[in-house]
Amino acid sequence: MTQRVVVLGAGFGGLEATSLLSEEFGDELDVVLIDKTAGFVFGFSKLDVMFGRSIPEQVFHPYANIVKPGVRFVQAEITAIDAAAKRVETTVGAFEADFLVIALGADYDVARTQGLAEAGHEFYSEAGAFALPDTLAAFEGGDVVIGITAGPFKCPPAPSETALMLDAMLRQRGIRDSSTITLVMPFPRPIPPSPDASAALLATFEERGITWHPDTGVRSLDAAARVARLGDGSTLPFDLYLGVPVHRVPAVVEASGLTVDGWIPVDPRTLETSWPDVYAVGDCASVGTPRAGVFAERQGATAARRIAARVRGESGDALYDGRGVCYVEFGGEEIGRVEVAFFEGRPHGSMEGPSLELAAEKREFGASRIKRWFGREWTPALAE
Ligand SMILES: Cc1cc2nc3c(=O)[nH]c(=O)nc-3n(C[C@H](O)[C@H](O)[C@H](O)COP(=O)(O)OP(=O)(O)OC[C@H]3O[C@@H](n4cnc5c(N)ncnc54)[C@H](O)[C@@H]3O)c2cc1C
Repeated sequence: MTQRVVVLGAGFGGLEATSLLSEEFGDELDVVLIDKTAGFVFGFSKLDVMFGRSIPEQVFHPYANIVKPGVRFVQAEITAIDAAAKRVETTVGAFEADFLVIALGADYDVARTQGLAEAGHEFYSEAGAFALPDTLAAFEGGDVVIGITAGPFKCPPAPSETALMLDAMLRQRGIRDSSTITLVMPFPRPIPPSPDASAALLATFEERGITWHPDTGVRSLDAAARVARLGDGSTLPFDLYLGVPVHRVPAVVEASGLTVDGWIPVDPRTLETSWPDVYAVGDCASVGTPRAGVFAERQGATAARRIAARVRGESGDALYDGRGVCYVEFGGEEIGRVEVAFFEGRPHGSMEGPSLELAAEKREFGASRIKRWFGREWTPALAE
């Protein structure tokens, strides 16, 4: 009988796992990919929309375009996961599997930060980022705070990129002199594993007059007084607050009893959970790497390679290497490239650029994924 793989979540991890399995087996494996949404959006595209480089329609990749041998996409909400039985319940019925890949990402708990919903703007969700062009257009200058509540949070460079892209936008609009930008982050430096990248970012912050407030998070916003209260006891006044909310696993993951300390524990090298033939990859798992697409993608590939070996009756020796490459926007046309390794001694990384060549490389990164996962040509927005 044809073996069945059910992949939960069609983000970086799920799309890569699905693509690899289809390439390996075609119609000889039955792969079901389930997601509650109708399409995929890159994290970096949220910033492109927020800062007016793209419109939402340009960055949306419909799952209906996935035509891969052996793969069936199902749009449905997953309502229960039984890892022991390898069975999931969804709003369109139940699915049983020989292998499960849980790639459900991280959700946001906006309500955990008092005042955030009333007085701030979270920019990490699609809805939040896509609503911001109007807010930014209406902003006439003043104090801006970009704040992180607590770790872990997705794509650690993204808030630094946001500060630099905002700086560029306010300069272009001629209101930079009447504005301040403060970045609050619960890290000692912007990209902890890479001293080079952190130094380059800190030098650029200094040059552009962006205040760096390290080692603490934003605990609450006082909507009436328009101040952010920080974990270190200080307060920051704001006219515009752009926030990264507390992250958590999707409710169904927690309700299904899969988590320990909030995330799904896995063997970091194999992505196996405590249940046989059940893998968890990407932001929902505690792997020991940052929450970022490049890591989720390689984890999805490793899980898929191990499943492929099991389907063939082999033991499978694919191991996840904990490496990743991130592209960091510096707010102009140039982009830096940060390579990080997490499982080879202490986490460490090196930085190249920023340069125009790397901006082209980042565009190729996005284009190649859309070609591979959706089979269509696409070019991410050009840096302005
Ligand atoms: C502003 C911003 C910028 C970023 N920039 C970058 C970048 O430049 N490079 C990079 O590598 N990463 C970047 N990231 C991070 C990246 O987007 C995530 O880390 C990555 O998407 C994680 O992949 P994943 O497969 O674990 O989860 P996701 O890609 O989040 O996919 C999870 C999927 O599960 C689905 N799902 C969840 N719950 C259910 C349910 N109950 N039923 C059905 N479906 C469900 C969701 O709809 C989603 O499609 C950025 C993130 C943000 C917010």
